[in-house]
Amino acid sequence: MHQNADLDHRPTASTHAFVVEPHPTPVPANERTGLIANPGFGRVFTDHMVTIRYNEVAGWHDAKITPRAAFQMDSASAVLHYAQEIFEGLKAYRLPDGGAALFRPSANAARFRASAERMAMVPLPDELFVESVRAIVRQEADWIPDIDGGALYLRPFMIASEVFLGVKPSSEYLYAVIASSVGAYFKGGAPAVTLWVSQDYTRAAPGGTGAAKCGGNYASSLIAQAEATRQGCDQVLFLDAVERRLIEELGGMNIFFVFDDGSIATPPLTGTILPGITRDSLLTLARDMGLSVREEPYAIDQCRADAESGRLLEAFACGTAAVVTPIGTMKMRDGAFQIGGGGPGQTTQRLRQALIDIQRGHAPDPYGWLERVI
Ligand SMILES: *Cc1c(COP(=O)(O)O)cnc(C)c1O
Repeated sequence: MHQNADLDHRPTASTHAFVVEPHPTPVPANERTGLIANPGFGRVFTDHMVTIRYNEVAGWHDAKITPRAAFQMDSASAVLHYAQEIFEGLKAYRLPDGGAALFRPSANAARFRASAERMAMVPLPDELFVESVRAIVRQEADWIPDIDGGALYLRPFMIASEVFLGVKPSSEYLYAVIASSVGAYFKGGAPAVTLWVSQDYTRAAPGGTGAAKCGGNYASSLIAQAEATRQGCDQVLFLDAVERRLIEELGGMNIFFVFDDGSIATPPLTGTILPGITRDSLLTLARDMGLSVREEPYAIDQCRADAESGRLLEAFACGTAAVVTPIGTMKMRDGAFQIGGGGPGQTTQRLRQALIDIQRGHAPDPYGWLERVI
């Protein structure tokens, strides 16, 4: 696997064998079947979790699978005060032969490492990240719902656990992975959503943490999301923090546009946008479908003009949780405008299906994106 040993000279666990302490009273099979028949998103958790600890003496050590439980934590732990925290989100899918596979876990490992570096945290070696998510999927495969859109959503995260109120990078970290049985993010598949274009709040500034997957980015986006909800919209769309003009992304999803000349475009990764793995996968799929693909800035006024002239035919949001979500309408302070017919567009549906078919093992995987676990 990718060695980042030259980047990380700190000691790492010499063996990544996970000690398994099985749950003494796991959820009984019949109860689990009931829970995962209609799990929604992020409410049904499995029996176990992974934890790995870091300190300067032992390096990464104490890799375990234990019953999922509350953390005992000192009230002076650094994360509770200065939010030195990062996370990831990825899914394990049931394969047609009954096995299970992860989608591009090495890409999540690399992004987790980049997030750690931005937040001045000690990076977890990529291979340990990948082993940890494989280990939890192996342990909890029975929790993958066998329903349309079902998956085991994995949430790796890392927190600063040093007990100290001084402002500096923590010298101790706790890494954990929890797992949640999930169904389709939006009930009824992928209806078109309405976006509220936030003109008061921004998500990320140049030089800031926009490209890191850290909890702080979400905390600061919640007020804008609440405004979107008040405005009767489903999600918030953020503009760039400098000119308040260029479209960046949603609170937790990237954005794409489909034009009447058959081309598609998404904002470029300039450091203020989270580099989505779904985004990257769709760029590859679109190119291989023969679509002309651009990563270029797109101003909200131009977007509105293009929607009104008919040049802009479709828009969609993308991310691991909801995969691909059509955008039907955008609303801002001085009015709303519809995109295309206001419903799911053809190219959106085609890209969505192509990605889902690979993820679920229903189509060949020419890019080697699936990593079989069982
Ligand atoms: C996680 C995330 C995304 C989507 O990334 P994926 O790898 O596709 O799940 C997009 N934007 C933000 C802000 C995110 O945190």
